[in-house]
Amino acid sequence: MKKPTHAVPVPFPVSGNEIVIGGVPVSRLAARIGQTPFYAYDRKLIDQRVAHLRAHLPKELRLHYAIKANPMPALVQHMAKLVDGFDLASMGEMHVALDTTMPAEKISIAGPGKSERELSCAIAAGVLINMESELEMERIMGLSAALGVRARVAIRINPDFELKSSGMKMGGGPKQFGVDAERVPEILRRLKSLDLEFIGFHIYSGSQNLKPESIIESQEKTFELAARLAESAPSAVRKLNIGGGLGIPYFPGDLPLEIAPIGEHLSRRLPEVKKRLPDAEIVMELGRYLVGEAGIYVCRVIDRKISRGHVFLVTDGGLHHHLAASGNFGQFVRKNYPALIATKMNSSEMESVSVVGPLCTPLDLLADKMELPKADVGDLVVILQSGAYGLTASPTRFLSHPEPMEVLV
Ligand SMILES: *Cc1c(COP(=O)(O)O)cnc(C)c1O
Repeated sequence: MKKPTHAVPVPFPVSGNEIVIGGVPVSRLAARIGQTPFYAYDRKLIDQRVAHLRAHLPKELRLHYAIKANPMPALVQHMAKLVDGFDLASMGEMHVALDTTMPAEKISIAGPGKSERELSCAIAAGVLINMESELEMERIMGLSAALGVRARVAIRINPDFELKSSGMKMGGGPKQFGVDAERVPEILRRLKSLDLEFIGFHIYSGSQNLKPESIIESQEKTFELAARLAESAPSAVRKLNIGGGLGIPYFPGDLPLEIAPIGEHLSRRLPEVKKRLPDAEIVMELGRYLVGEAGIYVCRVIDRKISRGHVFLVTDGGLHHHLAASGNFGQFVRKNYPALIATKMNSSEMESVSVVGPLCTPLDLLADKMELPKADVGDLVVILQSGAYGLTASPTRFLSHPEPMEVLV
């Protein structure tokens, strides 16, 4: 039995022998762009994803986009029309966000070690700052006084629980993120004496989760923790960011996350949460779930080599553009991202190949011993699930090759 080449669903239609993205066959798109490699993001798929979420989640829940997943300016412009706010992790992202129509009061910034420059730009812009330590709070106070602008602040809490079965845990135990839950009452007491505008809490416990029951459990604990800590707050909690963590399927065996149970649970729980936090807007912040599946990475086969019986497709793309697909971005065991020969979609002649890039390192591997249609020089290789943590998470300067293009179609 041959192993399936991609167990995750392919969201792009096929016309003739090719996949079609944004209504354009992929080889035509390559010609239009004038080069390979490139990333292409399909705006219709993003629209559909947001619509799907909104159909299942309670109306009053606010959806934010975490720009770190994909900061391409055209894509962020598009997101500005679809979501209720942006979450930032740097000043670079802040500049991209402030160029859109999204009002500054719907934008927040988080991250340990924000620079004074970042903090003071955020205060001047009116962006909500998720404070991650006592020292940061004192710094914000100083900068706020110097600017003569009252900073809008929330406390990012390192919860006393973690998101189970997460690809990446970012809460629970000792962490560089946020203020430990048990220290929050003390910080809130200090905050009372400072001239800062208290907005609420940010509780982020993890990422890339495909189990609705784990997400529901952590949301439950998040509401509990927020309501408890709100009792020590200097004023009403007006915003509660409950994080996100919604994952997407990357590997054979991963099943797409079901949104319906999460939506049903939130619809049931929000009325009670509203009783304890009557002024709070509840926000969910999502990155990859919104954009990950809408993006592909496209590179071209430039050589086909057989080494001691094993076929290598050498492409013009690789690890320097797509670190995650090479397995070097936080994976414990290397697994193949879903890949296609996007110009041989109807071909039935299969072979086991490794898709590699031009870098002088064996780490430059986009697909390892994968069963794919037999490809020739000139064919296009597509890596799916590349709309988030693709180019932005890659070491483009490594080996000094040209950068790929990015298009929104
Ligand atoms: C990375 C991050 C996100 C986005 O995570 P996804 O897995 O892409 O949804 C959201 N919020 C914070 C605080 C993050 O650090």
